[in-house]
Amino acid sequence: MYLKIISSKKLSKADPVFGQQSFDNHEQIIFCHDKDTSLKAIIGIHNTVLGPALGGTRMWNYENEWEALNDVLRLSRGMTFKSAITGLNLGGGKAVIIGNAKTHKTPELMRKFGEFVNSLSGKYITAEDVGMTTSDMDIVREVTPHVVGVSEGHGGSGNPAPNTAFGVFMGMKAAAKFKYGSDDLKGKSVFVQGVGNVGEALIKHLLKEGAKVTIADINREHLETVGNKYKVALYEGNDIYSQNMDIYAPCALGATINDDTINKIKAQIIAGSANNQLAEDRHGVMLQEKGIVYAPDFLINAGGLINVYAEIEHCDKQETIRKTENIYNTTLEILERAAQNGVTPNVAALKMAKERIQKRKNEQLK
Ligand code: NAD
Repeated sequence: MYLKIISSKKLSKADPVFGQQSFDNHEQIIFCHDKDTSLKAIIGIHNTVLGPALGGTRMWNYENEWEALNDVLRLSRGMTFKSAITGLNLGGGKAVIIGNAKTHKTPELMRKFGEFVNSLSGKYITAEDVGMTTSDMDIVREVTPHVVGVSEGHGGSGNPAPNTAFGVFMGMKAAAKFKYGSDDLKGKSVFVQGVGNVGEALIKHLLKEGAKVTIADINREHLETVGNKYKVALYEGNDIYSQNMDIYAPCALGATINDDTINKIKAQIIAGSANNQLAEDRHGVMLQEKGIVYAPDFLINAGGLINVYAEIEHCDKQETIRKTENIYNTTLEILERAAQNGVTPNVAALKMAKERIQKRKNEQLK
């Protein structure tokens, strides 16, 4: 497969690593291989100005190595800005393991991967991501201290999803304050798309606030279970975007704001946990033109990151809550800055994150 890839036209168009579309001044990219366990992994360290590069490990059956490389480059860059905007002393990193998490993952493979993480002496700190569980992180912990998101039984912070949901709720309230002049969600109709770990936890906050909640999920059985549990309305159609609602909360998958959906969207606010909700940057501009307030995903879904950060900083639960509540202030500030400067909230958020990194860099140079 490798020979096939390097003989493909892509190589003639772009240099294999630094020439990749997703390459954005990454500091270090580490290719890890172990014959015995058939581990093939790539660790991407995007930026360590603010602190060690933290980001989860994703195990995915990538079609080829280009796809894996571009994923790790893109995701590690995203982590830099997520940490920076959240005010954490962390850089951005990510790792990908090439393979099917259901059939290819073994304790030996995870341990070997952990050894590679350990060889970086803390410059990269790993965590759970798609295809990984807290038990996998427990195995990684056997060979390196540079891992967070291990189970509570092993002294970790456990499942980050409830805190992610709390952060999304804070971001949603800030968006409501900006749009309606009040952050009270009582009586607002909110559609939650995807009621997995985060979506379900979000429902609880919304109901407590008195919002009118409707939920959707491709897993019909799960949808009904969650619907019965919280006594909320179910949406079982295929066109959530055209439905009348005040707030759309994407908590399933990315790129749901795209050319097909954007003109259907009736919501006035979009605030959810899914990563990379805008298919392209121009969709952010289109939302703004339609008067739809978009709370940047990488800002309001940082609650999970704040949760694992507690393991590094050894801060208590109260501090984690305080940092997560602060997502409200940052979101409001970003929305106001964006409006004042005539840019999208995503652009304003990226600018703020980059300013923080540059400030620290200047201090380090002094
Ligand atoms: P999850 O896998 O527990 O839940 C996702 C849910 O979405 C599932 O119930 C699934 O059936 C449903 N779903 C998938 N495709 C769908 C579709 N097309 N329409 C409707 N429902 C669909 O995932 P999660 O941990 O709840 O995370 C949700 C999203 O938030 C993901 O995009 C994730 O990357 C992002 N996120 C999660 C965290 C976290 O702490 N878990 C942190 C940051 C970002």
